[in-house]
Amino acid sequence: DAVLTLEAIEKGYNRGKPSEVIVLRGASLSIARGEVVALVAPSGAGKSTLLHIAGLLDTPDSGRVLHSGREMGGLSDRARTEARRGDVGFIYQFHHLLPEFTALENIALPQLANGVARKAAEARAMDLLARVGIAPRAGHRPAALSGGEQQRVAFCRALANGPRLLLADEPTGNLDPATSDQVFGALMDLVRETGLSALIATHNLDLAARMDRIVRLDQGRIV
Ligand code: ADP
Ligand code: ADP
Repeated sequence: DAVLTLEAIEKGYNRGKPSEVIVLRGASLSIARGEVVALVAPSGAGKSTLLHIAGLLDTPDSGRVLHSGREMGGLSDRARTEARRGDVGFIYQFHHLLPEFTALENIALPQLANGVARKAAEARAMDLLARVGIAPRAGHRPAALSGGEQQRVAFCRALANGPRLLLADEPTGNLDPATSDQVFGALMDLVRETGLSALIATHNLDLAARMDRIVRLDQGRIV
């Protein structure tokens, strides 16, 4: 029972122009329920492109994307947005938290947008903050938090709507090595507790070694 299946994904930019670049050349990958997979490749190899296609932020030129066995290719824009909101949580290298809102509010907002009542959304946000060890920081705005704390809040926001799949692009790449190690540990604990599947792009081989499986992007294919 795969949560994510990518079949023979091809993707290029500026197709048919002199500046054409073909990034993915038949990339295939399947991630099982609860499996945490490291995606390792040099910069420019196409990790972000692959994550965006997996998370329905971009479409492949050819190939198939399935979420929990369901084909995503033929969906309307609206159905794609719904599938993205329901199925996937994203974490980036930079937190992208809303600066004028508190940590708690940043985690509650995506739930409100998803139709959850305010009290329930705030309770879930508090629970998530407690699980990553920063409940006392709930009322602070991002600028008042350390880099590691900001990224912990971003993890909570990604999980706020209970996705089945977490997609992360260098989630601790912006932190110093010691903080990165701690914050990554908090992320992995949260992922394991919730039984999430995850695809996590990283350059850090020590972090990759803590995941269930390591895949590489080589010449546009997953090996
Ligand atoms: P990674 O995340 O592994 O660094 P990316 O997926 O960001 O790799 O990029 C893969 C290649 O595609 C790079 O050569 C990059 O310059 C190119 N690329 C990415 N996005 C675009 C775009 N919107 N237009 C043109 N080229 C792009
Ligand atoms: P929309 O505004 O199209 O409805 P969502 O708010 O559902 O999109 O976005 C879902 C997730 O995808 C959020 O984490 C958001 O930050 C991220 N996201 C949306 N568009 C992009 C994009 N073009 N590039 C990177 N991330 C994006």
